[in-house]
Order: sequence, then structure tokens, then C-alpha cells
Amino acid sequence: MTVTRLRTQASLYLEDTTVAGMTPLIDQFGRVHDNLRVSVTDRCNLRCFYCMPLENVQYLPRPELLKFEEICRFVEIMVRNCGVSKIRLTGGEPLVRQSLESLIEKLLQIPGLDDLSLTTNGILLNDQADTLFAAGLRRLNISLDTLDPQRFQQIARREALDKVLAGITAAQNAGFEPIKLNAVAIRGLTEHDLCAFARMSRQTGVQVRFIEYMPLDAERNWEREKVLSEQEMMDILQNEFGDLKPVPGNSESSPARDYQFADGLGRIGFISSVTRPFCAHCNRFRLTSDGKIRNCLFSQEETDVRSLLRSGAEETEIVAVVRQSILNKAEGHEINSAKFLQPLRPMHSIGG
Ligand code: SAM
Ligand code: SF4
Repeated sequence: MTVTRLRTQASLYLEDTTVAGMTPLIDQFGRVHDNLRVSVTDRCNLRCFYCMPLENVQYLPRPELLKFEEICRFVEIMVRNCGVSKIRLTGGEPLVRQSLESLIEKLLQIPGLDDLSLTTNGILLNDQADTLFAAGLRRLNISLDTLDPQRFQQIARREALDKVLAGITAAQNAGFEPIKLNAVAIRGLTEHDLCAFARMSRQTGVQVRFIEYMPLDAERNWEREKVLSEQEMMDILQNEFGDLKPVPGNSESSPARDYQFADGLGRIGFISSVTRPFCAHCNRFRLTSDGKIRNCLFSQEETDVRSLLRSGAEETEIVAVVRQSILNKAEGHEINSAKFLQPLRPMHSIGG
């Protein structure tokens, strides 16, 4: 066990985290899991090649999706018993799930839940930004990989760039803050977009995060050569705009490392899961839209909690099952080793 992990554990004992019956979800490597990503649907109105198949999408039958009441009960149990304090709603495309604002309202009533955020492709934000804001949501990540309409069509396999841009504007007008743009970076495709997004960030104050392309695509066409690494992206940006300096206070458990340019304009982050994995500091686990716990994005195994929620299982039983799943979490993903196996589900079905 590394010194950092021992320190994490030691500081937990000092803090007496068992107060009020709450015991955090700690795995065998000392990582504390307080961050849950909840997928509300596997459906989507885009077909991004790194995530979904173009055709013959096998969506889950609707009765298999967790109902909002089931999601809320699960989150409440996790917050009260395990110290989960951060929830991100995702999918598929979360805004295609009807009446999402009512889930947001209910989640925000859970005592102890400090942070609720949402990741969206932005297409439906022009219609929904005001409603989501009125429901109490404040933090949004909007995924957009390119500012070029042709490349957008190439990546998302739909024509929708204008709708996404209108969605970003609608979100800004509604009052969302911060708005972060997530851009998957792909070699031979999005190099030109790096500087375009940097210019956009410098001029509008929107934060941009570049994500290394991960092996989670339905069509299984991922190749290491297509990953544009953090270092290569930094080089391209620094050639154009000068030095990027780390933003003070980058959190260890944040998957992104954030930078700003020397003149203070623009904020750029990198999520470098392939070339600089952050597994040692991972604090996340996932609930799929059909009620399975995944202790890692790349896990081969899942733990069913939907059947427990639907059969009226005791809270203690649900907590025990989640604790066991977290205890079973592997030390890290194996993308960079020969034994790596791509997860059975593609990203839209896991919940990004
Ligand atoms: N539909 C919403 C969206 O696109 O923002 C939410 C779900 S999506 C699966 C969540 C995030 O995962 C998006 O930012 C998307 O770009 C990212 N993503 C999907 N597949 C990926 C892959 N193979 N590698 C890296 N990021 C990926
Ligand atoms: Fe849909 Fe998001 Fe996957 Fe793109 S990344 S196909 S928008 S779920």
C-alpha cells in the first residue's frame, strides 16, 4: 500500500467518520467513495462513434429503468449511511428522460447531499435550461467535441451543432454557473478544435476540458493511436498561446487537471484517463439506469440493486451489497496493460 493511501486511511480514523451511523465507502486501497454518477437512461439523440452504435441500438425496455422514486431512495440510503455527498446525473442523454426536473427537485431535498450536477450533450437545453434551473440545478457539463459542423456530423453522426450552441447560450442566460464544456480529443480529427475551444474559453469564460479517448465505444474501433494525449494537447495549445500554468487548488480526487494561460484568460482542463490515469485517487462509483452498481467505469462486474429496491429489501441489506462492491474494486483500470478487457457495455449504457 502506498504512503498516500495509508495517509488517507489514517486521516479518516482521526476524523471519526462513524458519527451519526455513517460509515464511508472505503475500498481495500483506502479510497473513499463519496461521488455517485447516476444514469437516468441509456437512450440518446446522438450517435457519437466513441460511445454508441450507429444502428440497431439495443435500448433497455422501459420497465427495466429505475423509477425516479427508486433512484431517490437509493441516493438517500447512500447519503445517510455512506456519506455520499456528490451526485452527477448522466446517461445516455439525461434530457431525453421525461420530467427530469422532478427528479432534480426530489434529489435536492435529500439532507446531506452537497452537490448535484448534470452532464448533457446540450441539444435539448434550449428548451429545458430554464426548467432545470428553476428545479434547483446549478452545475452543468456540456459535451461538445468540435466547433466545426462537418466534424460534428462525423463524430456525432447527426447534424446538431447549432442546437448545442443554442443550448450553451440558453444555459448561460438561465444562470448556470459554472458551465464546463467536455471535448473528447481524437487524433486525426479534432486537433484543430483545441485552439478553437481555447479561444472560446478565453473570450467567453466558459471552461473547457479535453478528455482522452477511452476504449468504451460500442463498435469496438478504439485504437491507442487515436488517443490524443494530454502532453500532445498541451504542446499544441502552448505553441499557439504560450505557457499553461496549473490552476492552484486542483483537487486530487478530481479527474481533471486544470490550467490557465499566463495572461489569466481562459481555463483548460485535461481528463487523461489513458496516459495519466487517476485511479489512485478515484472517489466514484456508478448506478446504471437499470439499477446496477459499477465500482469502476472499466469494471467487468456489476452488482444488482434494482431487485433489492423492488423487493422491499431493508436499507442495511442494500448498504451491505454496495459496501461489498466497493471492497471488490480493482486498484486501477488496465488500459495500458495487455490484460485489458473492454467492458461489455458501451459508454451510453454504463452512464458516462
Ligand atoms: N449524453 C451526455 C453527454 O454526451 O454529455 C451524457 C452521457 S456521455 C456518455 C458522458 C461523457 O462521456 C461525454 O462527455 C462524452 O463525451 C464522454 N464519452 C463518451 N464515450 C467516451 C469515450 N469513449 N472516451 C472518452 N469520453 C467518452
Ligand atoms: Fe449520446 Fe453522450 Fe454517448 Fe454522444 S457521448 S452518443 S451524446 S450518450
